[in-house]
Amino acid sequence: MAATVIDGKAFAARVRAQVAAHVATLVAAGVKPGLAVVLVGEDPASQVYVRNKHASTVEVGMASFEHRLAADTSESDLLALIARLNADPAVHGILVQLPLPGHLDSDLVINAIDPAKDVDGFHISNVGLLGTGQKSMVPCTPLGCLMMLRDHHGSLSGLNAVVVGRSNIVGKPMAQLLLGDSCTVTIAHSRTRDLAEVCRRADILVAAVGRPEMITGDMVKPGATVIDVGINRVERDGKAKLVGDVHFASAAEVAGAITPVPGGVGPMTIACLLANTVTACCRAHGMPEPQGLTA
Ligand code: NDP
Repeated sequence: MAATVIDGKAFAARVRAQVAAHVATLVAAGVKPGLAVVLVGEDPASQVYVRNKHASTVEVGMASFEHRLAADTSESDLLALIARLNADPAVHGILVQLPLPGHLDSDLVINAIDPAKDVDGFHISNVGLLGTGQKSMVPCTPLGCLMMLRDHHGSLSGLNAVVVGRSNIVGKPMAQLLLGDSCTVTIAHSRTRDLAEVCRRADILVAAVGRPEMITGDMVKPGATVIDVGINRVERDGKAKLVGDVHFASAAEVAGAITPVPGGVGPMTIACLLANTVTACCRAHGMPEPQGLTA
């Protein structure tokens, strides 16, 4: 294997330590950052995510407010809760765990969150601010990818970046962030012609597709940095296993650096949620923001 493996777990631990140090200074100044997480229904994967978010929030010294609502909660009750959280000065970040049950309009619900407390960065105002290069709350997963890329490369200016996937939560904001760092950005998707050829042009290749191991070594430019956002549950040799969107073994033969799954992008997502919450708290109180934890 030629590639350097980018250790997202270790990087995320450093980010969490930086967040904890900043939280301690805020607490000493009489301000405790608080994150509210709203879970509607009993989706097992969402329950695990919410539990992990609670534990991580408490670990860095922030207040964690959990709101677990029944699957049949009405839209008006959910919107009323969000209005209360928007008005609560102890809450600096609000996250509504997605996906929501089918009878709830996710766009309506997300856009009801105060943009200043929208630590997922999904509110239409934050999407617009990011798209126009203004200060915003940045979606956690792409922010984590950007931090790892900056750490590995220093400057990203002038590099060719290819993002495979154009979702609103990963692909599009990832492309905006890379553009913001002066990469030449291509966004590929399911209609892209000759995906392999497009990928082979990338100095930075970000895979956010949701298809197990579809990016193989022959699609990677020698020396490229490969960021694998995918989390896919598959069965191998009768055992459940997590794999990315990148075929790790073949890509690592060619790439200069690569993130593994698990242990790459995944741990950075929660670390960036904590970073966004502390940033939101600093902005709310007009206090200095932590360095290096925003775009
Ligand atoms: P979506 O399903 O919303 O988007 C997938 C994208 O991949 C779409 O734009 C789709 O194109 C594109 N695509 C699908 N098939 C192909 C193909 N054959 N060739 C090229 N492009 C293709 O997924 P998400 O963005 O939400 O998530 C992507 C992956 O990242 C998933 O595995 C998810 O689990 C993971 N993820 C991981 C996170 C983490 O914390 N590490 C956080 C969020 C997501 P089109 O638009 O044309 O349909």
